[in-house]
Amino acid sequence: MIETARSGVIREDRSSSLEALAESELAHPGFRLKFPAALEVRYWHDIAAERVKELRFILLWGAALYFGLGIVLNLTIIPNPDWRGVSIQLIGPSLAALVVRHVWLRDGCAAAMREAGLLAICLLCTLAAIFIVAVKPAPATLRDFLLAIPPTSFAMIFVRLRFRQAAILFLANIGAFVLALAGRPEVHRGDAMFLAGFMATILLPSLVGVHAFERAARRIYLHGLLERLRNEKLAASNAALTGLSYTDSLTGIPNRRQLDQALSAFLAVPGSAGALLLIDIDMFKAFNDRHGHLAGDTCLRQIAQCLGSCLQPLDQLARFGGEEFVVLLPQATSREAAQSAEALREAVQRLRFSVQGQSVGITVSIGVAAREGLDTPQALIGAADAALYAAKRAGRNRVLVA
Ligand code: GH3
Ligand code: MG
Ligand code: MG
Repeated sequence: MIETARSGVIREDRSSSLEALAESELAHPGFRLKFPAALEVRYWHDIAAERVKELRFILLWGAALYFGLGIVLNLTIIPNPDWRGVSIQLIGPSLAALVVRHVWLRDGCAAAMREAGLLAICLLCTLAAIFIVAVKPAPATLRDFLLAIPPTSFAMIFVRLRFRQAAILFLANIGAFVLALAGRPEVHRGDAMFLAGFMATILLPSLVGVHAFERAARRIYLHGLLERLRNEKLAASNAALTGLSYTDSLTGIPNRRQLDQALSAFLAVPGSAGALLLIDIDMFKAFNDRHGHLAGDTCLRQIAQCLGSCLQPLDQLARFGGEEFVVLLPQATSREAAQSAEALREAVQRLRFSVQGQSVGITVSIGVAAREGLDTPQALIGAADAALYAAKRAGRNRVLVA
């Protein structure tokens, strides 16, 4: 019980602190694409499954589109394509994308590994295109360098890398492009400047877009997370309130509402087994008058605890009202119920209460009603009540069967 309450409190603390972090992130939007540690962990955990689905889709259709478009462009717009270079540029990335899809996009793969793997493959494919131009035996032309740009722009726009990976891809490609240009003196200085500028101009907006999209996605996530956390909190407080509404506040055992439900459920199952015990504390008014109501409350709590500790797992104890308790024995025969009632009566009689330095005892009277022939809660309780009154009239501290 204590453990459950504690872990519940810890869980609630965690979700409240996440809620506070998410609220503060939304209230102070910055350009950093990183949440505080606890929120960042939760973010990657929550988006993992969707991210894998997204990347599977992107890589499959990306490879198909890249390959299809590349063929169409080389067959139509580009004059005299170098088919050796073209096939390396088209088949390489397409195969790599399909391999990544099967190797890195398994559900269990760590997010950091997945994103790093994706970056590695993008780097490989885009740098390969520049490398082909850099090592070309014949003199390199402006067109060769222009044809090395599309793989990078395709990767930056279509693969939807996270910003950090996209920035690395951007810088690596610009660097490699500039180095390749510097190594080909046959390209005029003016053309080289134009090519480097052209590449940066094409890729820079993609990089800015990646940042803007990731930032927006993170904010949308925060709104969704806040709603989920608030719903969780609401559900938890509803569950706690429901629990309270079925529990007696003084003794902590089920109350009359829960008893009514248990009794209806019990009687709804066909059969004749089962019995109900109505337990009433003897002369409790006098106990209160003599020792005070607070001592009376303590006495009620201890009796509830004592009764509960004597029951079998399927038996149900409830506070019926005032100083009366009910025990539902769903499987007992009339004889077994009477024996259980007698055991309960003796257990209460053995209890000792320490009141103002004095040790005092108390007794209960119990009315027993077997289910047989009594098919409504009223009939069953009425029969037990009649037996209880008979026990009181017979002198108290005894069990009588209806
Ligand atoms: P009997 O043996 O005939 O049952 O006598 P009794 O005094 O137990 O019965 P009676 O119905 O006259 O009095 C019941 C008493 O139970 C009166 C009331 O003050 C006390 N009581 C009921 N609920 C509580 C409670 O929550 N706390 C305390 N301390 N006393 C309670
Ligand atoms: Mg009473
Ligand atoms: Mg009483």
